[in-house]
This record gives sequence, structure tokens and C-alpha cells, in this order.
Amino acid sequence: MKVLRTVAEFRAARAGVRDPVGLVPTMGALHEGHLSLVHRAGEECATVAMSIFVNPTQFGPQEDFNRYPRPLERDLALAKEAGVDLAFVPPVEEMYPEGHATFVEIGGPALRWEGERRPGHFRGVATVVTKLFTITTPQRAYFGEKDYQQLQVIRRLARDLNLPVEVVGCPIIREPDGLALSSRNVYLTPDERPYAAALHHALQAGQRRVRAGEQDAEVVRAAMEAVLADTPGVTVDYVAVVDAEMLEPLVTLRPPARALIAARLGSVRLIDNAAL
Ligand code: AMP
Repeated sequence: MKVLRTVAEFRAARAGVRDPVGLVPTMGALHEGHLSLVHRAGEECATVAMSIFVNPTQFGPQEDFNRYPRPLERDLALAKEAGVDLAFVPPVEEMYPEGHATFVEIGGPALRWEGERRPGHFRGVATVVTKLFTITTPQRAYFGEKDYQQLQVIRRLARDLNLPVEVVGCPIIREPDGLALSSRNVYLTPDERPYAAALHHALQAGQRRVRAGEQDAEVVRAAMEAVLADTPGVTVDYVAVVDAEMLEPLVTLRPPARALIAARLGSVRLIDNAAL
């Protein structure tokens, strides 16, 4: 595995590898969720590239940019073991040099939910992903359904800007109790941790309603919210039943639909989602 720190170094290494290249963009603190994307890319691509970059432009001023975990040596060992060929680990100044002034603004699927609660978040995501795509020129890029709205935003971005990249969505990897793996789970205290599976349980309650024939989206939504309301320490941010592409709220269930949840547990904000 080659570790590249500058755009020039990456491009030089990129010129010497076989196509197709699959890119796995991450912010590091790698876990099995990230590694599942690497494995999928390895099955479908001749070369696997991973970026590890905690992108400052997607964090709000009150968010956890400074305390976000950065175990770089461990990450590189895990990436190598999982089969990454090229690891791109730029410092912030390499991605945003003095004078950087161009951003990618995205509407549509970015407007609601995370976009509403985290102003500027998807602008930062769309900007860094566009830069990563132009720096690494992958044929395919792998993203987790864990961040379902982000996945839809990136699909829209690639389509709207005619980026020659196939965006591949991959399933959510979970702990045995159902908690979706996330680099932020390390913030959960031992007291909070058992309650964190409530998001998954809420999604399952919604799915059960739909399987039983419920078509009223509000009934399904309320069933999910009730599970969270019954869980000690959990504060609901949003629970939504939406169409799977534009993420607009539904009145009547029609496939493909998605349930989206964001909730707080102590100081930790958790998100999760599922197909309905
Ligand atoms: P992050 O490092 O949090 O920016 O995540 C990098 C990529 O890994 C994104 O495409 C995430 O959606 C994906 N990812 C994070 N957690 C999971 C998970 N539990 N299962 C599948 N993919 C995940």
C-alpha cells in the first residue's frame, strides 16, 4: 500500500495503477463499516484507493471537528490489511490552501433533515467529494447507506456535474445489538451504550408496521417515534418517512421509501435509516 500526502504524489501513483479504480472516501477512525466498502471495491475494481481526511468544511462551528478521533497509524494498518492499494491522507492545507474560495452548493436531497439541522454540512461534503473525485479520478466510488442522505446527495452531485464516476451504495454494518457502526460511537458512555440500539429498534418497528400492511406514513412514523420516546436518555431530533431518492416526506407509503432517524443520547448525535 502506498501512502500519499499530496495531490501531486497521489496523481503520480495513480498513473501507475490498473483501472478501474474504486475510491472509498472516509474521515478515518476506521471500523468494519468502512472496511466493508473496501472489500466491495476490491471485488469490483483492479485498484482500491481510500482517502482519510477529516474535512473541516463539513463541520459546523459547534460540532466535533477538533475532538474527532484521528488514529492514523492504526487506520493505515487496517486499510493495508483490508487490501487498500493507494491511501490518500492529505493535510488540511493540501485540500484547502490559502485563498481557497470555491464551493459546491447542492439543493434537492440536501435541503431537509441533516441539511436543515447542520447548515453548510452538505456544501462541505459536496465540495470535498468533488475535489476527491477530480484528484483521484476513480471509475467507481463507494459510500455507505449509513449516511443515506449523503449517499443521495452524492448521487445527485455526480449526475448534475456529469462526473464520470459510478456511485455505489453499500449496506449498513451493525453491532450485534443493531447499533450501526460509527466512528462517533466511541463518544457513548458505558451507561448510554445499551440504549443506543433504540434507533435500530425504532426502524424495525416501522418496518413491521409496513409489512403488516400499514400505508399511512404518519402511523408508521409515530410507531418509530414511540420506541425512541420510551428509551431513557434519548432525545429525538427527527423521525421521517420519505421517498428514497429526493427524501421528501410521504403521506402515503409507496416504494421505494426510506425511514430516517436522528436522535441524541447524552452528548452524542446518532443517525440511522432503513428501507421501508
Ligand atoms: P465517515 O468516515 O464517517 O465519513 O464514513 C465514510 C464512509 O463509510 C461513508 O460512505 C459512510 O456512509 C460509510 N460508513 C460509515 N459507517 C458505516 C456503517 N456502519 N456501515 C456501512 N458504511 C458505513
